[in-house]
Amino acid sequence: MKLIMLGAPGAGKGTQAAILSERLGIPAISTGNILRSAVKEGTPVGLLAKSYMDAGKLVPDEVIIDIVAQRLAQPDCAKGYILDGVPRTIAQAESLEKAGVQFDNVLSIEISDEEIEERMEGRRFCHKCGATYHVQNAPSQMPGVCDKCGGQLEQRDDDKPETVKHRLEVYHAETEPLKEFYAQRGILRPVQNQPSIEATSKVVLEALKL
Ligand code: AMP
Repeated sequence: MKLIMLGAPGAGKGTQAAILSERLGIPAISTGNILRSAVKEGTPVGLLAKSYMDAGKLVPDEVIIDIVAQRLAQPDCAKGYILDGVPRTIAQAESLEKAGVQFDNVLSIEISDEEIEERMEGRRFCHKCGATYHVQNAPSQMPGVCDKCGGQLEQRDDDKPETVKHRLEVYHAETEPLKEFYAQRGILRPVQNQPSIEATSKVVLEALKL
């Protein structure tokens, strides 16, 4: 299964990708996580990406296309994968097509901007392993500590309200047109966000006929 997760920032793509990854035994690939690691390690890509990310802007397509090509060449991608947060522009989608990548499904999680803005406030991530939590909807067992690796939980710099507003604008302008792009290819599966992770997961599995 080759799957793309579409949806606004904070729609729950990462959470649903992790659930599907476990169920299907294929990796979930988040360009956001790859970039955050690169920023932390201070690699050339990280140094370049940081200013875009902090401002809630998209990192240039060439950088993303390179990262994805390298990641998809890894042996664990042979049986399939879930892309979370990529493609994010028509240019990225076209580049994947040109590289011969064919997707089975493009899942689009539909959620209002108002709900996103409320939700981002409580979002936390583990700075060590990238696992995600929410202070109300998906809390860790010990506040501030990752259940998986014991790392410290933090709020992403780009989850601050002003940046979230800008990221939503970027989503509507640059990423939302991908829905039409994949609808034309007959593989768009829209699902409505539900009040809980479990309920959303249920509609996701139904949409994918799993
Ligand atoms: P995410 O974790 O997916 O919300 O990504 C966090 C940030 O990383 C975004 O706001 C962008 O600055 C950058 N980023 C992640 N994926 C992409 C992508 N496919 N194209 C451009 N920028 C990206």
